[in-house]
Amino acid sequence: MSSQQQDEPAIDFDALTRKYEEERSKRLRTDALGQFTPLDGDFAHYDTDPFVDADFTRDPVARDADVLIIGGGFGGLLSAAHLRKHGVKDITFVEKGGDFGGTWYWNRYPGIRCDVESYTYIPLLEDTGFIPSEKYAKGAEIYDQCQQIGRHFDLYRDALFQTEVRSLDWNEERQRWIIRTTRDDEIAARFIVSCTGHYSKPKLAAIPGIESFEGHSFHTSRWDYDYTGGSADGGLTGLKGKKVGVIGTGSTGIQCVPALADWADQLYLFQRTPISIDDRGNRPTDVEWAKSQKPGWQKERMENFTNWTSGIQKDDDLINDGWTNLLGEPAAVTGGVVGDVDPQELLRGELAKMEKVRRRIDEVVEDKATAEALKPYYHYFCKRPGFSDDYLQTFNRPNVTLVDTAGMGVEQITAKGVVVAGKEYELDCLVYASGFHFMTSYTKESGFSINGRGGLSLDDHWSKGAHTLWGVQTRGFPNFFLMSLLQSGVSINYMHIAEAQTQYLATVIAHCLDNKIGSVEPSKQAEDGWVDRVIELAGPRKAFLDACTPGYFNHEGQQVAEYDLNMPFGGGPHEYLDLLESATAGKFAENLEFRELATS
Ligand code: NAP
Repeated sequence: MSSQQQDEPAIDFDALTRKYEEERSKRLRTDALGQFTPLDGDFAHYDTDPFVDADFTRDPVARDADVLIIGGGFGGLLSAAHLRKHGVKDITFVEKGGDFGGTWYWNRYPGIRCDVESYTYIPLLEDTGFIPSEKYAKGAEIYDQCQQIGRHFDLYRDALFQTEVRSLDWNEERQRWIIRTTRDDEIAARFIVSCTGHYSKPKLAAIPGIESFEGHSFHTSRWDYDYTGGSADGGLTGLKGKKVGVIGTGSTGIQCVPALADWADQLYLFQRTPISIDDRGNRPTDVEWAKSQKPGWQKERMENFTNWTSGIQKDDDLINDGWTNLLGEPAAVTGGVVGDVDPQELLRGELAKMEKVRRRIDEVVEDKATAEALKPYYHYFCKRPGFSDDYLQTFNRPNVTLVDTAGMGVEQITAKGVVVAGKEYELDCLVYASGFHFMTSYTKESGFSINGRGGLSLDDHWSKGAHTLWGVQTRGFPNFFLMSLLQSGVSINYMHIAEAQTQYLATVIAHCLDNKIGSVEPSKQAEDGWVDRVIELAGPRKAFLDACTPGYFNHEGQQVAEYDLNMPFGGGPHEYLDLLESATAGKFAENLEFRELATS
């Protein structure tokens, strides 16, 4: 033990455990997910795309396609890139936004950056030759890389932007999916790859009076630069002299708050649950280092990151950041990943990790009451941890006020502002950093109906929970591939999982196209086997989440039966990646059923 560790005050683990339970109890609400409102009806304007010409029109398209990809974010782009590498030429995209980018198209709020190291997170760097300029790149650079992938793989040719899918219907006779869109297109595609994203449906907290606010307001994923001025790099001159409020202290809130504080006359941050914040340590890329990397370096780096963040320390830590350093404090990883560690030791280590996070707040934040209110009291992975070089420091600015709601949330919104504990905070502008619907209903989040063989609706089929093979295919829905977290492997770097999933699905689709196979779906045995394995391994993660403070990971503290089946795969990323990689390498046929091509 180091002398510094010896000097640190002892931790009363029992007292902390009681405190966590108290804080959790304050936040439990009977309305759970019902406390949020989707962006429709009176709230539909919060979902308007601020980055396109709203008057854009085009003629409907009617055509056949080999592959139709829904969603032009990294999931769709990776799928298309791997399909192209297999020689698949006929790929149509349908994308709601005005360009490729997905998350990085919509989220352009000031201060946005990736929160996993760029060289590990941003895919296809070796294909496009792009070198991110910093260890944690700005959103605009990542968005540029999305477009670069689009150009590199010639994906713009058949892309339908500003278009949403309304319905997918399997036509057994034609062995094609019939896709109908909001622009009256009708496309008959042999294969569908549905990459609608995990955080694509923004939500608002249904706070009483929310509709009565007469100031300006918007959601962070639809940033209104016409109002604020500037760009994601700052320069928000429209906020000069303005009182601005932010609701939300998740990964988004912590990135936009420092940028807003630079320009608003007065900034109020309304906090329900504090986020855990560690040092980011961002720095410019060493270009010579980047140029010296040998082919295959990015895959190696992704593997290294996934190893270090899931308990395997077999090589040097190439990334060496707040995520991978958690392994120096192994018990921090209580999300259910670490293998051979005594659970009590794990718990104590994790409590110690959070204690360090809290002590750091005292070191950075000058006002004692504010520092106290910013301290998170829950297990480390109950919420996605945050890393920032400037969030905590922002509370030392004279124009920034933390309005802590003591776990209760904002009480009311009035014509003039926000009410907390009976006090009204008058605002000119209110920014909702209130997050996204997450792993609730696949079709509600994707926004279209899906009807498979015999008209079976996916909603009905999954009404008691998902049934999939590896979270990528589902029986009864031939030639349909999806990218979602339902029954899928997870890594802190989702791109590692996405690479494996898209290589797999591209291999299977190309195999079918090359071999006159009309339809493919998982065998009953393979799908049942996977569902059983998901259920078998769900226990520790479920128990962990059940004890967590409410948040989107645990459906706001109210787990219902179908969510058990909708959980990600609990066996850790390696088992999952090994399965997909061996299927991609040639073993896919043993889990799938094929039917011959009946029509062209
Ligand atoms: P989020 O994590 O769901 O945060 C929503 C925030 O709104 C929470 O702090 C929540 O408080 C607060 N809230 C909700 N209702 C409230 C109410 N009535 N009163 C006061 N506060 C209320 O959403 P997010 O920050 O947009 O992040 C979502 C996910 O997107 C992240 O976890 C991450 O995976 C991803 N993301 C990644 C990046 C990146 O890579 N750079 C950036 C942004 C987002 P409670 O905590 O009390 O519920």
